[in-house]
Amino acid sequence: MYPEIKVKEFEWYLRDLFFRINKNNNNDKELIKDFRKDEIANFLIKNYLRYRDYEFDEISNLLNIVLEDMQKNNILIIDNELIKIHSKFNRKQCTKCYYINYLSLNEGICCRRCHSNNLQEFPKKKNMQ
Ligand SMILES: [Zn+2]
Repeated sequence: MYPEIKVKEFEWYLRDLFFRINKNNNNDKELIKDFRKDEIANFLIKNYLRYRDYEFDEISNLLNIVLEDMQKNNILIIDNELIKIHSKFNRKQCTKCYYINYLSLNEGICCRRCHSNNLQEFPKKKNMQ
């Protein structure tokens, strides 16, 4: 078993990945929502400094734990090797504890660290002059 903090951290990076892949995509019709598990694992190792030294198998194990959890919470569907996310992820910062949250549209607006519901866009949008 992995320590909870390691699993939570992994979930944060995975949400970051889903966010980044769809970041420049404002059109839900063009949402990239199908991912292969092995592609996700390889992408994390290749693009995230945090997981650069990880073995593929360890990433896969963590991925399976976190994906099961996210499926229970209605964020995605696991179909064998294929993952389908329900919506894009929005990046929001908690105004209370400053934690950066990546939230699916299927989740309530609530900080995953302190449960405050006072979240704002991150980075904060500049006011138009
Ligand atoms: Zn918070």
